[in-house]
Amino acid sequence: MPDCSRCLRLHLSPCKAADRSTSCQNCLRANVASCDVFGVPTAELRALMDEKRRLDRRKEEVLSELLRLEKQSRALEGRAEKALSREISLMEEDEALEAHHPS
Ligand SMILES: [Zn+2]
Ligand SMILES: [Zn+2]
Repeated sequence: MPDCSRCLRLHLSPCKAADRSTSCQNCLRANVASCDVFGVPTAELRALMDEKRRLDRRKEEVLSELLRLEKQSRALEGRAEKALSREISLMEEDEALEAHHPS
């Protein structure tokens, strides 16, 4: 069995699989969770990559939705401001009219 990547990197030896464990003895002693002495299970890896891709896609969706809402919110804000200023100018007109023609 080939050495795990950590043992190879740190030049540890011997790289032996520990009993009832998916880690080698060196990794087990160092409390390393990602020993690949048995190789990374492809199915698990593929599932992880799929999940990551799914999350990335979702992130993009949420981000564009956020931008859309932000734009909408700003547009409404602008409209509200315009409506408000129109309201105010109408009120001022009314007041001016009332001042000229007291009822
Ligand atoms: Zn090892
Ligand atoms: Zn290891």
